[in-house]
Amino acid sequence: MMTDVSNIIAGVRKQGRTVLTEIEAKQAMNSIGVGTTKTQLARSQKGAAAISDEIGFPVVLKIASPDITHKTDAGGVKVGLKTKAEVSRAFTEITAAAREKFPKAEIEGVTVQNVARPGIEIIIGTFKDPQFGPVIMFGLGGIFVEILKDVAFRIVPIRKRDAAEMIKEIKGYALLNGYRGHEPASIPVLEDILMKVSDFVEKTPAIKEIDLNPIFAYKDSAVAVDARIVLEEEK
Ligand code: ADP
Ligand code: MG
Repeated sequence: MMTDVSNIIAGVRKQGRTVLTEIEAKQAMNSIGVGTTKTQLARSQKGAAAISDEIGFPVVLKIASPDITHKTDAGGVKVGLKTKAEVSRAFTEITAAAREKFPKAEIEGVTVQNVARPGIEIIIGTFKDPQFGPVIMFGLGGIFVEILKDVAFRIVPIRKRDAAEMIKEIKGYALLNGYRGHEPASIPVLEDILMKVSDFVEKTPAIKEIDLNPIFAYKDSAVAVDARIVLEEEK
């Protein structure tokens, strides 16, 4: 079902938050036609096990807290859980680790989502430059962004041609064509995501930042496995 983004934003504002939960951010992305892993909130061990059963194993569990942004750093991500017993144990471990690292954080529970099959890891993001306004970013995930800073930027809005150029100008571009027998990434699919995110940000001034990190890219599709959206402070 499509969820209207303005409803999501209104709900976040009502709770006095500026950061969308992973689930809200993914709903927003789905509503603009950007695919994500199917993600649901579980407030208890039993709930997590039941949702896992419904989604189908293996699943990923992640900490769900409005106060925790970098989930991995909080011991808050477990990928590839294969049974209800593993899910139950992961629920306890993740929530305990989060409480220990962030004693003041409000913990909603965990999110449960399907495991996306491995693909080429991409990052697409937006932020606001004080001078130029919204800027969109494209890069390869992992060490390419963190160490090599191999990213391309454009001022929003972009046209299809800009999207194509951004993708081509990163140093790791050749990797998108597939390497060492890896499946290639569809360039048209990535261009389409860039266009949709640019259009969305252009039309939604309340958005301060978007971080789709990572997106797993495949030969004819792509899926965001993590999504973060931050709103401007309310004026
Ligand atoms: P963080 O808040 O630390 O950025 P992420 O949600 O990005 O947490 O998860 C950390 C890593 O776990 C991702 O970079 C990805 O490699 C892996 N991962 C997360 N969700 C999935 C998923 N649904 N399927 C497969 N791998 C995943
Ligand atoms: Mg992430």
